[in-house]
Amino acid sequence: MKPLHLLLIGPPGVGKGTQSELLESRLGIVPISSGVIFRAEIDAETDLGRLAKRYIDHGRLVPNGVTIEMMAKRLRSERVRQHGFVLDGFPRNTDQAVALEEMLNENELYLDRAIALVADDEVVVKRLSGRMGCTKCGSIYHTHSRPPTREWICDHCNSPLFIRSDDQPEAIRERLRIYHETTSPIIDYYSGQGILLRVDATHAPDVIYQEILAGLDR
Ligand code: AMP
Repeated sequence: MKPLHLLLIGPPGVGKGTQSELLESRLGIVPISSGVIFRAEIDAETDLGRLAKRYIDHGRLVPNGVTIEMMAKRLRSERVRQHGFVLDGFPRNTDQAVALEEMLNENELYLDRAIALVADDEVVVKRLSGRMGCTKCGSIYHTHSRPPTREWICDHCNSPLFIRSDDQPEAIRERLRIYHETTSPIIDYYSGQGILLRVDATHAPDVIYQEILAGLDR
């Protein structure tokens, strides 16, 4: 299969991470999640991690310069060239979208689809409130819709689960505000390029995944 180049747009908690996981495990596409990379940098206590933490803990965006540079490095990898990518959480504003286009042009790559996962704020707030992630492999769980088999233990790698520091009520409100103000305009940007696929993200993860697959064929 020809490598696919995708990106997922949507508010926090809409299921971008879950769909990236499914696209990776079922189609072998390489997920590149800016949030996951930032959290790994924070855990490793790097300079970038320390800088990013100051913004992330308050639900604000990390500055474009460091974010774009970090993503450019990932996009140049050989694995990405061979298996394609699904971007999750990047771009998050129009300047990042323009920078992404330039990076792809430089690497002779192009986007096949920008997938907008659509759900109301009240749906995503409910999802964020019960969300847990694996400290090691990044798998995502939810107290109601996707509980782990053993409490606080990852089904895939047996590592402990955690709740993100920015999944607290105040940071959630700020992240949603920034999403509507700064990130959602990029949906129009990709619509204008004729590569936008809108998917109703209120269904179960598998149903959403099937809708994405169907949309990729159209
Ligand atoms: P996420 O895991 O995608 O919800 O990202 C968690 C946090 O990381 C966000 O709330 C931002 O603070 C930061 N972040 C992730 N991606 C970006 C980006 N593309 N630009 C700026 N900040 C980002």
